[in-house]
Amino acid sequence: MAQTTTPSPSTDDPSPSTDDATPAPPAAGVPANAPDLARPTHAGPLATAQSQLAGAIERLGYDAGMHAMLATPRREVNVAIPLRRDDGSTELFHGFRVQHNVSRGPGKGGLRYHPSVDVDEVRALAMWMTWKCAVVELPYGGAKGGVAIDPRNYSQAELERVTRRYTSEIMPIIGPERDIMAPDIGTDDQTMAWVMDTYSVNQGYTIPGVVTGKPLEVGGSLGRATATSRGVVHATRAAIGEQGLSLADVRVAVQGFGKVGSHAADFFGDAGARVEAVSDQYGGVYRSGGLDVPRLLAHVRETGSVVGFAGSEPMDNADLLTLDVDVLVPAAVEGVITDVNADQVKARWVVEAANGPTTARADALLAERGVVVVPDILANAGGVIVSYFEWVQAQQAYWWTEAEIEQRLEERMIHAYDAVAQVARREKVALRDAALLLSVQRVAMAHKTRGLYP
Ligand code: NAD
Repeated sequence: MAQTTTPSPSTDDPSPSTDDATPAPPAAGVPANAPDLARPTHAGPLATAQSQLAGAIERLGYDAGMHAMLATPRREVNVAIPLRRDDGSTELFHGFRVQHNVSRGPGKGGLRYHPSVDVDEVRALAMWMTWKCAVVELPYGGAKGGVAIDPRNYSQAELERVTRRYTSEIMPIIGPERDIMAPDIGTDDQTMAWVMDTYSVNQGYTIPGVVTGKPLEVGGSLGRATATSRGVVHATRAAIGEQGLSLADVRVAVQGFGKVGSHAADFFGDAGARVEAVSDQYGGVYRSGGLDVPRLLAHVRETGSVVGFAGSEPMDNADLLTLDVDVLVPAAVEGVITDVNADQVKARWVVEAANGPTTARADALLAERGVVVVPDILANAGGVIVSYFEWVQAQQAYWWTEAEIEQRLEERMIHAYDAVAQVARREKVALRDAALLLSVQRVAMAHKTRGLYP
């Protein structure tokens, strides 16, 4: 059933020397069926990602060939996934795996289950993973996967079958040295255990390094489940620290109360910040002076949503984004801060826990008003940093303590923030532009140093 949009390598083709095969610039004749990624035609995450890259390329003075190479995924696989449902009927889903760049190491990126997943979204997310891994100096490229499915409508047994079939279809291009998956929206540690098991059974031995974010019993890492959220808090602390503030001085609103948003809200509360509003896809809640986050977590465990939390006022998801707080943390989906609402954002800092929550136009509007945006590729890199720690531990079969992981995570986040802030000051640009300059430059250097094959 697998249909590849670009040729899929055979299982014994590690293709290390072809990783840097620079695609021809569009003017010099991209193959007729190749997507024209450098010229997005619609607004959406891919348009945002491409516009960010174009800005960095212009500032760095790279030529059209380098731009095309960085704008075009190295490899894409497009698969059809038939599911036999529990009642005996069958359904078909579309899935993707995109490896945007592998110049600095194997592809790394999450697997998303959401009904609106399409290949352009996955391309954007894969590109952001390339920059994210480079900005925090991990030896990885960027990749992402997705299946257009609403996991809430399927049983665990059905989701297991979908996951195993998807894994089987993309098997030739994944592996601990090729492309390493992790959870994202709609997937979790159990999903990763199924991926790892399917891959391992087919290879004939246990290979924990093919995924990260897996359960502890099968080689997961302590601290992985909360790493993205801890990283968001470290990044926030560093950003507000530039203005002499500490977390105890700020009011925070968090959009999205899933794996990232819920722990982030909890850690913000622990650090003394007042978390005044949070939301999920069903709605939001607000309390002036701060919500009791541990009690809210218990409410969500009981009811499945933040809605109806005792002692809070209901709050519309859109209103949360324009609430009068100091720090706004979008931790749900992409494209929520747009040219429609950017002018009304009152927060002084937007810390992007989600990937791509701010459109390119909104980014410019926020910058004009002096709102500091800590960009996704920096702010939410804690997850991939501890994924890297998990992968290193799995490859060595030697596990670290939670304290070691948390300390190394904090060091890396602060080091990356400082490096980005330094470029921002030197180049007089926003943090996002600085993060992109740093990461695009690192990827381009790896590409140039390896050279072209043949
Ligand atoms: P999740 O599925 O666990 O949680 C998503 C949350 O967002 C849920 O509370 C959901 O109800 C809410 N939501 C969905 N649509 C919404 C909408 N339109 N308005 C408001 N809330 C909405 O996913 P997650 O793992 O927490 O990921 C959240 C974001 O963080 C995504 O952009 C993801 O790519 C990014 N991210 C996740 C990780 C990670 O380690 N999980 C790492 C880096 C980045």
